[in-house]
Amino acid sequence: MSTEQTHQTAWTPDSWRDRASEQAIAYTDDGAVRRACDKLASLPPLVTSWEIERLRTHLADAEQGKRFLLQGGDCAETLADCRSDVITNKLKILLQMSLVLVHGAKKPVIRLGRFAGQYAKPRSSPTDTREVNGQKVTLPSYFGDLINQSEFTPEAREPDPHLLVRGYQHAAVTLNFIRSLLEGGFADVHHPEYWDLSFVRGGGLSPERQAAYERVSASLAEALEFMEALGEARVDELTRVEFFTSHEGLNLLYESAQTRRVPRREGWYDLTTHLPWIGERTRALTGAHVEFFRGIANPVGIKMGPKADPGEIVELTRALNPGNEAGKLIFITRMGVANVEKSLPALLGAIADAGRRGLWVCDPMHGNGRTTSTGVKTRSFDDIVTELERTFDTHERLGVTRLGGVHFELTGEDVTECVGGASGVTEEALATNYASLCDPRLNYAQALELAFHVADRLKRVPG
Ligand code: PEP
Ligand code: MN
Repeated sequence: MSTEQTHQTAWTPDSWRDRASEQAIAYTDDGAVRRACDKLASLPPLVTSWEIERLRTHLADAEQGKRFLLQGGDCAETLADCRSDVITNKLKILLQMSLVLVHGAKKPVIRLGRFAGQYAKPRSSPTDTREVNGQKVTLPSYFGDLINQSEFTPEAREPDPHLLVRGYQHAAVTLNFIRSLLEGGFADVHHPEYWDLSFVRGGGLSPERQAAYERVSASLAEALEFMEALGEARVDELTRVEFFTSHEGLNLLYESAQTRRVPRREGWYDLTTHLPWIGERTRALTGAHVEFFRGIANPVGIKMGPKADPGEIVELTRALNPGNEAGKLIFITRMGVANVEKSLPALLGAIADAGRRGLWVCDPMHGNGRTTSTGVKTRSFDDIVTELERTFDTHERLGVTRLGGVHFELTGEDVTECVGGASGVTEEALATNYASLCDPRLNYAQALELAFHVADRLKRVPG
């Protein structure tokens, strides 16, 4: 069957089940899987179709350069980190970064968290072999808290279908808290006291950056007061802070169980999140993930690494967005600093030549992983900044596309997982507070510093 024929067959929320699935999970109890999926299907949705449609409208604006996208959060959320301080700090850092970006870009910023569902992780190997008491032991890899547990024991690593429901419940609790915080004025720019920097203990932000941040927030508050003095009402449309959620749509059991039709709208919505994305390892044209994602009305992200074949990516955009609609796709490139200039131009050229719509986003994290001499997974702040710079430059040099957003792995905590930045995390210091179960994240100070780099670069983007 050709690719085209493959995607002409009838779609249902379950049609992916006939396709080969990369990263498929070997559950052993089919009855328990069925019960978990039935339960998920009976529970209310986590997000609504009108929120999804609103995000699509914003993304369509961003494609035209009228908005900029900030997508960020953990590599892998954990059920244990579903705590008020962790959620509040993550929300704060994303809000603060967005404030810096609004100031630099002089346009509204779309805030898209990697949260309330970022619980499933693709792995390079399905198994994990370690030495335990002098014996080599092989167990299933840890696939994220939606699937199994990270401890290296046979019980913990056994995929557990009930975690699908537990993941949903934790996503719901996370979202409930975020919605209440935002509703309660947590993020209202009229209240700069909520935006201060004092919540980080020893965050290590340089005094210059701290002063620059305070200038940004004061000048925004002043601009709002000025506009309100001119008009009659509060500038609510400008100050109301919206937040959207996203996660890798890896476990199709979870995604399809919450996929449904809604009253008075066409199509099917995946209501676990506003924007699910397809990872670099699961975007095979004839695979289960593309089959599932081609049928939903949500905007969908596609990760693209240096090996992405431009012709195949064009085909992928045809499969996922047959109507070539604006606001439907985001193209998240994660080339690695050494590959951007080599691999990105052909991709940009192919999509532009084919006239395919979508928003270009740079993820400068996933192509820049490395392991230190003592075996610690890290990323360098300098590589991250340089990949971003080169990505902006490449879009500008080609002149047919525009970089419309950024995608980061970060946390509001004071972790030591990435090296570099003004706070100067060294390789030796990585052990101080390395908390990630998966990829290394930017800490609070590094994330805010990065926002300043992006804001400075956006000031130089030709109109
Ligand atoms: C991720 O975003 O955590 C991830 C695994 O990304 P990618 O699919 O780009 O490797
Ligand atoms: Mn990651």
